[in-house]
Amino acid sequence: MSSPPNQLFIDGHWVGPAEREVLEVIDPATEQLVDRVPVATDADIDAALAASAAAFAEWRHADAWTRSQLLRKVSAVLREWVEPMAATLTEEQGKPLREARGELAATADQFDWYADEARRIYGRVIDGHARDNRLLVLRQPVGPVAAFSPWNFPALLPARKIAAAVAAGCSIIIKPAEEAPRTCLWLARACAEAGAPRGLINVVTGHPEHISTRLIRADVIRKVSLTGSVPVGKKLLKLCAELVKPASMELGGHAPVLVFADADVERAAETAARAKFRNSGQVCIAASRFFVHAAIAEAFTRRFVEVTRALRLGDGRDPDTDIGPLASSRRRDAAEALVADAVARGARVRWGGERPAAFPRGFYFFPTVLTGVTDEMRVMNEEPFCPIAPITTFATFDEAVARANRSDYGLAAYVFSRDTKTTFLAAEALEAGMVGVNNMVIATAEAPFGGVKMSGCGREGGSEGIEAYTHTKYVNIGLWDQ
Ligand code: NAD
Repeated sequence: MSSPPNQLFIDGHWVGPAEREVLEVIDPATEQLVDRVPVATDADIDAALAASAAAFAEWRHADAWTRSQLLRKVSAVLREWVEPMAATLTEEQGKPLREARGELAATADQFDWYADEARRIYGRVIDGHARDNRLLVLRQPVGPVAAFSPWNFPALLPARKIAAAVAAGCSIIIKPAEEAPRTCLWLARACAEAGAPRGLINVVTGHPEHISTRLIRADVIRKVSLTGSVPVGKKLLKLCAELVKPASMELGGHAPVLVFADADVERAAETAARAKFRNSGQVCIAASRFFVHAAIAEAFTRRFVEVTRALRLGDGRDPDTDIGPLASSRRRDAAEALVADAVARGARVRWGGERPAAFPRGFYFFPTVLTGVTDEMRVMNEEPFCPIAPITTFATFDEAVARANRSDYGLAAYVFSRDTKTTFLAAEALEAGMVGVNNMVIATAEAPFGGVKMSGCGREGGSEGIEAYTHTKYVNIGLWDQ
């Protein structure tokens, strides 16, 4: 049981590599090969599509209590399996075990949340234009879903899609990121353990472009959901547009943090530094542009650097580790390039800025604090997705908001101030789907998660989360005499 699943999960069966090509799963802390997963063939993808269609034909008729009970059981299984799942998650993604356990608790929360939402999908009855006329509004499951999830939260992000789809009465085929595929396969195992019908949840691993194209083009698929980068989002949206398929997109972010002169500077700096470096900065809502009022900028930076210096870099399995390696060499190379660009344009490295010599193996990068940053630097325009905190200063409210809103992204934003009026006006003015005020832990199952502008469309979680998996049907009834 504790060995991680490493096969495709199609129609309730585990499908091994056999003659298939395989993808290597690398431990980012050691750069060692830890497992192999199969590359789904066209026949595998088509089998998942057929299974999904057959399962949907049944599950769409399952009553709300049945759907709810299945999700509740999945949550219970996940809470029981935290330790082996956390070990897999850390091994393939790199985050500290403590964070992996936290992610798995949040993953179980998703199933609990949607176990409740499954029973709260309400229609409406509207009075018609005439005495003998009634109008009904029904909400029906949208159909089999194709979903694509990334590697940074390899349990939580697929769970947001699986739990919502199943709650609404849909079946789902999910393709996890090739960097961390087995955590999602664990979810499939938990669903099977909880008694999910065959074909309701299918997981295919392999080449992303090939799988996403084949799935989205298939007639069976009626809904697409991606959490990933803007370039991948654009590709999938184009495919969806050709076929007029509804799509939910949870794409990247470049969250601004506005620290006003009246903020609790010490507490803001501590909160911001801890939140920034969670998961080595590989979080779509991670703070990544720090706008600090000039009057408090040095005090804020000093405390921010103190907290950052105290964070211990290391293997996620070591209980003393605060920050693990980045998930891949690609992410570490990106971090190096962003620091080099900022320094070449005049930024000052206040802490970090390089690979730690103590770790010759593994994709490690020091948590990094930059000051003297200007809006033209790459790090202020490209989503860093790595442990870099660029700090710049501002003079007025309007300047801070305008510079924060320059970005094409609009996922999360944060405000630190003691003044109610400032926090309200900033929260309203910031172009973001989510705003944290004196708080940077904002993602939770019961609140709607998602962005504006290029950060995407649609919401996951909250009472809004189920909407993407249902469509509205209007029925007009004439009450004729029999
Ligand atoms: P990348 O763009 O090379 O790959 C990201 C992921 O996209 C891969 O895991 C891959 O499985 C998937 N992907 C690529 N092409 C695809 C396709 N055609 N269809 C379906 N999936 C496809 O970048 P990377 O270096 O691995 O990650 C960094 C970028 O990814 C950043 O820009 C970041 O915004 C984004 N990202 C975002 C999130 C998020 O939570 N929003 C999570 C992980 C990565």
